[in-house]
Amino acid sequence: MPSPNEPPLVSVPQAPSPRQGITTTGLPFPDPQALDPDLQGLLQGASALLGSWFSSAIHQPPLPGLAIQPPVAPGLRGIGNNALLAELQQLMVGAYNPNHPGALAHLDPPPLIASVVGDLIAAGLNNNLLAEELSPSLSRLEKALCSWLAEAIGLPPGSGGVPASGGSLSNLMALVVARHQRGLDGVGEAVVLCSADAHVSLAKAMRVMGLPPGALRSIAVDDAGRLDATRLGEELADLDSHGVPVIAVVATAGTTVRGAVDPLAAIAALCHQHGVWLHVDGAIGAVFALADSHRHRVAGLDLADSVTVNPQKLLGITKTSSLLLLASPAALGATFATGLPYMEPSRVGCHGGESGLQGTRPAEVLKLWLGLRQLGLEGIAAVLDGAIGRRRQLEHLLAGDGRLRVLGGSFHLLAFRPEGLDRDGCDLWSQRTRQLLLREGLMLSRPNYQGLHHLKAVLGNPHTGSEHLESLSAILLGSCDEAAGSPG
Ligand SMILES: *Cc1c(COP(=O)(O)O)cnc(C)c1O
Repeated sequence: MPSPNEPPLVSVPQAPSPRQGITTTGLPFPDPQALDPDLQGLLQGASALLGSWFSSAIHQPPLPGLAIQPPVAPGLRGIGNNALLAELQQLMVGAYNPNHPGALAHLDPPPLIASVVGDLIAAGLNNNLLAEELSPSLSRLEKALCSWLAEAIGLPPGSGGVPASGGSLSNLMALVVARHQRGLDGVGEAVVLCSADAHVSLAKAMRVMGLPPGALRSIAVDDAGRLDATRLGEELADLDSHGVPVIAVVATAGTTVRGAVDPLAAIAALCHQHGVWLHVDGAIGAVFALADSHRHRVAGLDLADSVTVNPQKLLGITKTSSLLLLASPAALGATFATGLPYMEPSRVGCHGGESGLQGTRPAEVLKLWLGLRQLGLEGIAAVLDGAIGRRRQLEHLLAGDGRLRVLGGSFHLLAFRPEGLDRDGCDLWSQRTRQLLLREGLMLSRPNYQGLHHLKAVLGNPHTGSEHLESLSAILLGSCDEAAGSPG
């Protein structure tokens, strides 16, 4: 207990002390009893650097050329603020530039500023979501926000979940939970069903789970890129009749190339009928359930046993922000709890470190919470509206012309290729056109989909305006003539 004469442990910031750069330890850790102007200078310098990086984004290309890297290894003597900031700036010159309006290649939008601040504060607090005594308020925030999000996307009352460092990990955890809940741990012949367009992280999950590649059974998609529910029904019946145990069906709400949504309600009915766990990989699409006006795009999401959500993908929450949400979150503890013999018991049921695969975890929930609070429900809806609006505009510009085959789905992703080109033709066209676009400050990606290279636009960047979409479509349509005229 502090004596009455001692200063209170928590106080308003004091005037900077004159002891420039010298802390109680002689090392650059924050001084616990006085505001250190050197530390404050570094924080302010870094935030100025970031501010100018944001505000000059339009003058740099989305994808910078190779830049000279700063020195890597620590020198014998540590460096001061100015040198640190100069090296930081040097690295930032070579960074991918998501804030450029032409950054349309991937599911990596500009960050919400409150979520940047959330990351900074989470790092400063340096709490650990492993155990409640290492993150008292943040553990409670995490549980409460996961419950709110789970119910907000339509899961039943009492649902909840856990954050994970990325959707790949959320998907892996979902399958490990499903296998455990179905009593199939250690059963080598168990299988997982998904569509042919499902995310590559599922194949990775098979490896981690010790299952052979053939344990992932992919079902054909229809012309719109959605899992064929009739085929799924046949496959489930076939597996039943051969006594092959099924760990889960993974339906995708937003495929990575075109944003297709599998028929969730029909798949849920089949899962119910066969007693199979339904995991929905909603890394792209689940956030659309947060707005009344967009929820229809993921109808049936509420019937899932578990859902992967990636707020890092469209909402602009800084990386990484992914969650695994479950209708029955107690399944997490049932699967992952080991006891944490070196920790005080959890007061709310289960420590963070026993709710998933990760042990020590940063407070990723903080940037999600701050970002969502900053946006508000109206802001969330506006982000979704903007993305869908841009996709509609681009689709209108491209598809109306007839020279491009345009593949879309329910969200803000479009993939396209010129009509009538073979494999080599698509490969050449996509490489040339991507380079042409990059020279104009427009960056698309070049996925190989169903054996052909496409160009793909992800319209989640709020800075992209009509004028950018118009130049994009002019270049794309022009490239079709060239492609048609060139051999191959
Ligand atoms: C991005 C994505 C993932 C993986 O998420 P990461 O955060 O990159 O690990 C999983 N599923 C789908 C459909 C995705 O688009």
